[in-house]
Amino acid sequence: MEKNFYITTTAPYVNAEPHIGFAFEIVTADVIARYHHLLGKKVGFNTGTDEHGLKIYQEALAKNVEPQVYVDTNAKKFKDLIPLLNLSVTHFNRTTNPHHIEAAQAFWLRCDKNGDIYKKNYKTKYCVGCELEKTDSDLVNNRCPLHPNRQLEMYEEENYFFRFSRYQKKLLKLYEDNPRYVLPESKYKEIISFVSRGINDFSISRLKSKLPWGVEVPGDNSQVMYVWFDALIYYISSLGWPKDTKQFKAYWPGMQIAGKDNLRQQSAMWQAMLMSAGLPNSTQILINGFISVNGQKMSKSLGNVISPQEMVDRFGVDGTRYLLVNLGPVHEDIDISWDKLVVRYNNGLANGLGNTVARIAKLCQQSGFDFPPDTPPGFRSQVKNHLDDFRFDRALEVIWQTLKDIDQKIEGTKPWQLKGQALKIKLTAWVAHLRQVGYELQPFLPATAQKIIHQFIGPKIESKASLFPRLNP
Ligand SMILES: [Zn+2]
Repeated sequence: MEKNFYITTTAPYVNAEPHIGFAFEIVTADVIARYHHLLGKKVGFNTGTDEHGLKIYQEALAKNVEPQVYVDTNAKKFKDLIPLLNLSVTHFNRTTNPHHIEAAQAFWLRCDKNGDIYKKNYKTKYCVGCELEKTDSDLVNNRCPLHPNRQLEMYEEENYFFRFSRYQKKLLKLYEDNPRYVLPESKYKEIISFVSRGINDFSISRLKSKLPWGVEVPGDNSQVMYVWFDALIYYISSLGWPKDTKQFKAYWPGMQIAGKDNLRQQSAMWQAMLMSAGLPNSTQILINGFISVNGQKMSKSLGNVISPQEMVDRFGVDGTRYLLVNLGPVHEDIDISWDKLVVRYNNGLANGLGNTVARIAKLCQQSGFDFPPDTPPGFRSQVKNHLDDFRFDRALEVIWQTLKDIDQKIEGTKPWQLKGQALKIKLTAWVAHLRQVGYELQPFLPATAQKIIHQFIGPKIESKASLFPRLNP
């Protein structure tokens, strides 16, 4: 068995409040982290914030505050997600942490020593919304398709470049050797096709006179690092790299999770950077889909942004977690609305799980029987296989099928007409099923799972307040 397991989310850019798109990514990561913990591994679960770059600098200026004050305020909102969503995060890192800045500079020097950094004059179109260079083929009507309301910036300056082109073959070999390197398969194919077409060296610095808000390039105080170059290094600076070699070796390489707009950065740019620095590549990259609301991308101007806090206020912590990870396959785009969420909550939690648990507890209490404690041995293989495949929707379907089976058997056997041993046999079987359900719900609904485990631990089983109150649409 592998000793440790490390998973990291992307570092969200702190120019906006956390929205449910990132909540979806981080809850997905939490399910994976908790699952590996239950498998007996020591788990490192990293998240944090990306705090440099032009967009943040411009917005701090517009608000007339120091960039550091601006990022401090916003980083806190992301850190607050940890208690809000009951996340088992072990590492929270910010790219303005002094340790991260040192790590980014040490990483730069390694790439430089390996001959992968050079200076050249160049001209490019740049989307501040993405903090990415754009080629004409990326654009629609000469605008970034993800940020059609932003004017593209034109850059012409002398910058440092990273010799990305040098890693084309090595990247293709990495993908070829690891057929599940990027999931889902469609994204794996997409990255292979992107790298196969030929990759260009990319700029990794900016003139400090134009952008003072960044990590200074070692040995050249006229330039700061390009925000992506510094931000990607956060995956390992979180583990204390380069100083804390013990922690780094204990956890790295690890798994990454990212939204589909991050595919190239995570699975190609960052992997080439690791190769250049002589460090092991990430083990796997899970790409998740986007969430839209009523068929439209969430945006402040449309007024359709759903915040994690609003969801928790309405559905509770575990209700929110259930809704986020059970909307469909993690890798697909998902469209939600408040109405749809309420229906799913009522069907799955108030009527489904909550109702079955309440029925069995009541029957057990009325029977007066003892149910000796007995712990499930682990995940059922079907549930485990779906978890290993990151198909949480299917794992939950198996668990919910068990609940449906119990309900059907209650209807079929009419336990209220049974007595003595006949009743005890039935109830004991159903209690065992619910203990299994409680165990398997731990990665998904950690607090609810603990309630079920404690309620059904035995020997006496009693009715308790309902787990999930029914909501009005
Ligand atoms: Zn853009």
